[in-house]
Amino acid sequence: MMACECRESHERRRVVLTGGPGAGKTAVLELIRHSVCLHVKILPEAAGIVFGGGFPRDREVEVRRAGQRAIFHVQKELERAADALQPAVVLCDRGTVDGLAYWSGPDDFWDSLGTTLGEQLRHYDAVIHLRTPPGDGGYDHSNPLRVESAEEARIIDERIAAAWSGHPRRFIVEPSADFLGKATRVLQLLRDEVPACCVRHFWPIADPGCSPFPRGEPPQAAPGQWGTVRPAS
Ligand SMILES: [Zn+2]
Ligand SMILES: [Zn+2]
Repeated sequence: MMACECRESHERRRVVLTGGPGAGKTAVLELIRHSVCLHVKILPEAAGIVFGGGFPRDREVEVRRAGQRAIFHVQKELERAADALQPAVVLCDRGTVDGLAYWSGPDDFWDSLGTTLGEQLRHYDAVIHLRTPPGDGGYDHSNPLRVESAEEARIIDERIAAAWSGHPRRFIVEPSADFLGKATRVLQLLRDEVPACCVRHFWPIADPGCSPFPRGEPPQAAPGQWGTVRPAS
């Protein structure tokens, strides 16, 4: 996250980066974190907070529904907290509509939350979907919070695609072995959401000759870093 001399007041845009398990979302977000100015707030993933914080996981349907409702409410409050910091862009690691992909009927996800799909889709200005690679190619089992098999991951990815299909500004990033190419595509899409006053920080698009990692490997971001940086206003 780079310092920014911008003193404009920004009209906040909310962007979702979503994707099935194993799509490389976390690695792409890590790169973005080092490529944007402090007016782009990157939210932590609500599911990681809920399940990482000890919320029970179980195949039992009522337990799964309770988990998805908890994630929805945490996501809403993360967005509210980020808005309070006057950002130019809030980049969400998944959005409220993702819950639909993990929801088991027969009762309706949105009824149980007192909202509608349309209302939730309107809540976001753009959606970037990183697709899960087919088969077991590139599937990452290293995340201890991840419980899906490769086949389940593919099905969830399809369900995420279906859940967001009604969004007017949805961008699909197909799976690719070329990580940097995929990450650059996401950065290009994200750059289009960032106001001109803040976009000059963007690497590698703003200045292709300039590496974001002058000392070699990308540094590790501290958890919760997004909330500790105040806009310089
Ligand atoms: Zn700005
Ligand atoms: Zn800025």
